[in-house]
Amino acid sequence: MVLGKQGAGKGTQCVRLSHHYVVPHVSTGDMLRAAVKSGTPLGAKAKETMDRGELLGDDIIMEMVAQRIAEPDARARGFILDGCPRTTHQAEMLAQLLAPIDIDLAIDIDVPTRQVLRRLADRRVCMDCGANYSTSAPPKVNWTCDVCGGEVVQRQDDTEAAIERRLDLYEHQTAPLIDWYEARGQMARVNGVGTADAVLARIIRAIEERRGGRPKAARRRR
Ligand code: AMP
Repeated sequence: MVLGKQGAGKGTQCVRLSHHYVVPHVSTGDMLRAAVKSGTPLGAKAKETMDRGELLGDDIIMEMVAQRIAEPDARARGFILDGCPRTTHQAEMLAQLLAPIDIDLAIDIDVPTRQVLRRLADRRVCMDCGANYSTSAPPKVNWTCDVCGGEVVQRQDDTEAAIERRLDLYEHQTAPLIDWYEARGQMARVNGVGTADAVLARIIRAIEERRGGRPKAARRRR
């Protein structure tokens, strides 16, 4: 499970980790954005809350996660969880859902707030697969996703007011999870400053240390 402030590079790193370990990337934000885009009842309910930068109810989120991780790919290979839990109540619900094993490791990608603010203003994302880009590293062709051909846009919740609210919620609701997982011996903190390749290598090292093996070298992005 990967934790980090908005703009810490969570989405980018989770996509890379999912390729590296060949496990599904389960992102609650991506699932909700897909629901909004396809106009499902969940999407209609979620949109306004998301645009304001507020959190959705724990029950809705955990129901969605429970359904996703019950699918065959996640059951067979495990999963990388991105964007959930966001509160200690969600962490408790997740532990219950996965009992008796729980998650293997929680990773916090640590980046100073002034730096995430700069990254969020530049961030662009694929509406279809959630791949992340920025104004300084756009897709190769005309804001069309390099991975899936989807449209690459600025997120609707990357407005100044919603960013401020999300960072505030992160500090008060999500950051306490670091202590929560630390107390359970499930936490690894990783410095998120540096190139995406450097941060990925640090995360892989932390995972491999946890598994007690030698790190497989991180593949460079094509
Ligand atoms: P993200 O892409 O992870 O930043 O999520 C985008 C938005 O989806 C958040 O600002 C929330 O409105 C909602 N969301 C995603 N994950 C959760 C969660 N675990 N709990 C509550 N709301 C969530």
